[in-house]
Amino acid sequence: MRIPAWRAVLVAGNLLLVVYPWLPAAARDAGYLLAVTGALVSLAVTAAGARGPDRLPWVFLAAGVAALFVGEVLWTWYDLVLGVDPFPSLADAAYLAAYPLLATALALWARRSAPAERSASVLDAGIITVAAGLLAWVALISPTVSDGELGLLEQAVSVAYPVADLALLVLTVQLLLLPGQRPAATHLVTAGMLTMFTGDALYAVTSLTGTTPGPLGDLPFLLSYLLLGAVGLHPSRYSSEDTGAGGASTLRWLRLVVLTAASLLAPLTLAVQDLTGAVVDGVAIAACSAVLTLLVVLRMSGLVRQVQTQARALAEAARTDALTGAANRRAWDETLAATTSRGGAVFVVMLDLDHFKAYNDRHGHLGGDALLRSAAAAWRAELRATDLLARYGGEEFGVLLTGCDLRDAVATADRLRAAMPDGVTCSTGVAAWHPRETPAQLLGRADAALYAAKAAGRDRTVVAGPPSAPPLATVSDVAHVGG
Ligand code: GH3
Ligand code: MG
Ligand code: MG
Repeated sequence: MRIPAWRAVLVAGNLLLVVYPWLPAAARDAGYLLAVTGALVSLAVTAAGARGPDRLPWVFLAAGVAALFVGEVLWTWYDLVLGVDPFPSLADAAYLAAYPLLATALALWARRSAPAERSASVLDAGIITVAAGLLAWVALISPTVSDGELGLLEQAVSVAYPVADLALLVLTVQLLLLPGQRPAATHLVTAGMLTMFTGDALYAVTSLTGTTPGPLGDLPFLLSYLLLGAVGLHPSRYSSEDTGAGGASTLRWLRLVVLTAASLLAPLTLAVQDLTGAVVDGVAIAACSAVLTLLVVLRMSGLVRQVQTQARALAEAARTDALTGAANRRAWDETLAATTSRGGAVFVVMLDLDHFKAYNDRHGHLGGDALLRSAAAAWRAELRATDLLARYGGEEFGVLLTGCDLRDAVATADRLRAAMPDGVTCSTGVAAWHPRETPAQLLGRADAALYAAKAAGRDRTVVAGPPSAPPLATVSDVAHVGG
C-alpha cells in the first residue's frame, strides 16, 4: 500500500512533535523555523501553480503564512540574537498582519457556496464564535483590560490577538460547515487554523497567569505549520470537487450538540461566577445571551423558510408530470372535480397522439419522450393561463377549458392539433359538461369522442354528443391543419 506524500509528511512530522519538547533548545529553534519555512514554501508553490478561481485564495493564504514567517523570524532574532523578549514588538505587527490575509483566503472559499447555505453556516459559526468570544472575554480580554500594570499599547495588542482569532474562527468554522465546491485540501487549512487558535489561546492564558508553557506551547503552532505544509503535497489542492463536508442546512446531530453547548455557555458562565464568588462579567454574559438568542431565532426562521420552500416544491412535484411538466392525473382529477362543482361552462378536450407506437419504433423510446415534451410545450403556448393541460397517461393528454363556448373549445382543439411538432398528428375528442353528470361521465364522453376520431381516420376533432347519446359527427378534420 502506498502512503500519499502529504500523509507521510503529517505522520513523520507528528512523530517528531512527540520528541520535540525533549530536544535541545537549538534543535527546537531550528525545527520550528523549518516547519514555518516548509508551510510557506508549500503554500507559495501551491499559489504559484493555482489557476482560475482557486488562485486568489491560495495567494492570500500564502501571503498570510509569509507574514507569520516574518513574525517567527523576528521573534527568533529577538530571542537568539538580541536575547530580549519585547512586547509588543515588530514580531507582533507581522503576526497580526497575517490575520486579515488568512481571513480573506477563507472568505474567498466560502463565497463559492450558495447564499442560502452560506447564511446558515455564518449563523452557526456566529453562534459558536459568540460563545468562544464570551470565554475569551472572561478569561483573556476582561483581565487584560483591567490589568493596571499594562500600558495602553500592550493592552491593545494583547486584546487584538483574541479579537483577530475570533474573527478568523467565524470564517474557519463557517468554511468547515459549508458543503461545497472547493479543494479537499482546504480541510488541511481549516485544521491548521483550528490548531493555531488552540496555540493562541494556550499562549494567552499562560502569559496572563504568568506561567510559561515552555516547548509544549510550541506544539499547536508546529502542528498548524505541518498541516499547512502538507497542503502543497495534497493531490486535491487544485480540484474544485465537492469535498463532502456536512451540508450547511442539514442540522447533523454533532452540529446540534455543538450549537446547544455553545448556547448553554452563557448561563453556565453566570452560574460558575455566581457560585465561585461574584458575578464580574454580568453585562458581557447578558450581551452574549442576547446575541445568541438573536442568532438562534434567525437560524430558526431560516430553517422554517427552508421547510416551507421544500413543502411548496414537494406539493408542486406531487401535481406535476415529471416528463412533460404538464399537470398529472392527480391534479387533473382534483381540478376537474373542483371546476364542475363550481358550475358554469366547462369543456374537456382529450388528445391522443396518432400512431405513436410507430413513432417510438422509428425514433426510439427517448425520441418518443422528446416528442411528448415538445408537444406539451407547443400546446402550452396555445393555451390561456386559466386552461389546464394535464398528461392523462402515456401519450394521452387532457385540457380543461372554462369561460368559453363550444365553438371556442373546438377551435382550441384544432389549434392544439395544428401545433403538433415533427409532422406527427393527433386526434381530439371534445365534450361539454352537462350539469347533471359526474366528472367521470364527462371524461367517458370525451374519451368516446376521441375514440370516434380515431375510428374516423385520426388527425381530427370529434365533439361528444349529449349524455347517453353517441358522439356527434366530425365537426373538424384534417382540412383544418392545412394538409
Ligand atoms: P393510435 O393512433 O391508435 O393512438 O396509435 P398509437 O400507436 O398511438 O397507439 P396507442 O395510443 O395505443 O399507443 C400508445 C403508445 O405510446 C404505446 C407506448 O409504447 C407509447 N408510450 C406510452 N407512454 C409513453 C412514454 O412515456 N414515452 C414514450 N416514448 N412512449 C410512450
Ligand atoms: Mg395514440
Ligand atoms: Mg393512447
